[in-house]
Amino acid sequence: MPDEDNIKKIIDNSRIRNLKIFHDINLRKLLTFRINADISSLIIAEDTESLRNIIKYLIDNNIEYFILGGGSNTLINVQNKNIAIIKLGRFFDNIDFKEKESISCGAAYNTGRFVTECYKKSYNFAFLAGIPGTMGGAVSGNSGAKYNSICEFIDAIECLKIKTNNIILENHKLRKNDFGYRFLNIKNLIAITKIYLKKEQMEKELIFNEIVERIKNKKNAQPLNKFTAGCFFKNPLNANKTAAELIDALGLKGFRYGGAGISKKHANFIENYDNASPMDIYNLSKIVLGMVKDNFNIELENEVKLVGF
Ligand SMILES: Cc1cc2nc3c(=O)[nH]c(=O)nc-3n(C[C@H](O)[C@H](O)[C@H](O)COP(=O)(O)OP(=O)(O)OC[C@H]3O[C@@H](n4cnc5c(N)ncnc54)[C@H](O)[C@@H]3O)c2cc1C
Repeated sequence: MPDEDNIKKIIDNSRIRNLKIFHDINLRKLLTFRINADISSLIIAEDTESLRNIIKYLIDNNIEYFILGGGSNTLINVQNKNIAIIKLGRFFDNIDFKEKESISCGAAYNTGRFVTECYKKSYNFAFLAGIPGTMGGAVSGNSGAKYNSICEFIDAIECLKIKTNNIILENHKLRKNDFGYRFLNIKNLIAITKIYLKKEQMEKELIFNEIVERIKNKKNAQPLNKFTAGCFFKNPLNANKTAAELIDALGLKGFRYGGAGISKKHANFIENYDNASPMDIYNLSKIVLGMVKDNFNIELENEVKLVGF
């Protein structure tokens, strides 16, 4: 694998149209953890063709990459300088309501805006209210709340897939077994570019009330004004306690490691309290995993995506 300087040179020499390339970019702008440290390379692909071409180019040159949305469910190890971060640009930032009971949006469309625009057209996605990030990120992790998650309402996704060394654009009809609690699992998927949803319309006032209620509950229960990436761990499926309840039972609320700490408000949120490094957050998450395993014999699974660890 090429080293950091070589990777930068290879990326600079890609000669692919409609790309924006940046080096030594601070993560504060890219992750909701607001980590103050630089990543090596950020590439913004402005359209599907440039996205396809840059991914193919990176694969051909043996350079690791990661597709980042709004960075609200991701932790990147800045010590690992060999990963190129790719974001989707303007072409993917749109929404469309052409047909009745059908909605389509680009993968870079902001999830909060999605909830609001859908509300204006009488579609209820209140369960997504208060969730930061992009629709691509939401679909990739099947984001949602207790009773609903986004993939239930998806008819199909337009996506890039890798097939016999080629990257092709495909419309993938979503099937029930493609997704589950906080995951989407589609073979050979590389990037989601567009999302097609189906939903019945309903009375706007009811939707409005649900959105207000959801945001109120979220504000009460979660540290929304702190630097976090949402719930760090998934709730264990075969246990009668949530991840937060398990961590809380260990007395870990407020426990700190370096600049990171377990939120005092919600035990499943790790906060960047004081200039935390990615390693601070990562090590703290490992401590939690170990303690939950030792005390309850439960292996928690990360909900936050760890990149380059
Ligand atoms: C305060 C707070 C509250 C939150 N509350 C909730 C909640 O109630 N429910 C919930 O489910 N989540 C919640 N989250 C977590 C997070 O906001 C969601 O998971 C969100 O949908 C992630 O979107 P993102 O664009 O930020 O994804 P990112 O963090 O950028 O990426 C997450 C994953 O999606 C992948 N991805 C992103 N875009 C694409 C794409 N175009 N194609 C393929 N893969 C892609 C990435 O590779 C990565 O694996 C919360 C987070 C915060 C900070």
